[in-house]
Amino acid sequence: MIRSDILESIAPVIRDHLVVCNIGLPSQELFALDDQPSNFYMLGTMGLSSSIGLGLSIAQSKKVIAIDGDGSVLTNFGTLPTIANNVRDNFILLIIDNGSYGSTGDQPTYAGLKTSLASVAEACGCENVVECSAENTADEIQNALNSNQMTIIVAKCESGNIPVEVIEMNPVLIRERFMAEVRK
Ligand SMILES: [Mg+2]
Repeated sequence: MIRSDILESIAPVIRDHLVVCNIGLPSQELFALDDQPSNFYMLGTMGLSSSIGLGLSIAQSKKVIAIDGDGSVLTNFGTLPTIANNVRDNFILLIIDNGSYGSTGDQPTYAGLKTSLASVAEACGCENVVECSAENTADEIQNALNSNQMTIIVAKCESGNIPVEVIEMNPVLIRERFMAEVRK
């Protein structure tokens, strides 16, 4: 399975929650597979999906799922101790770890070599860290939602992308409809 397979499988589980999605192909794929007004598609700031998601979970009480990637977490390693020390039980971080920088040409990341992001998260003090296969990702998100505990999920999958269009929706509209979902 590749990232888009995970996104397709988790769509029914996440669509009723606030979702912050990583920049580039992850957002384009989620938009193509299951666009929702409750999805915030990042159009900049690589590495900050987890930070935006944590901040949103602090600012309000609805559940927030941040979809991040291995390359993005490696870009913003400071996010893991920040998350570990600011526990929010309405926050789930899903790291889709395909061992590559998918949006820039599938260059290999260190997460696909020696570095375990789940081990790093635990070393930073994160509790409820789960590493799972692509096939089990939807179940693990559902488990995390049911547990009402902040959870970090590292979903391992193959590298690869599907052909998708750039998101043409005006970023202001993406923001406005997302904010309307937050206020509901
Ligand atoms: Mg990646």
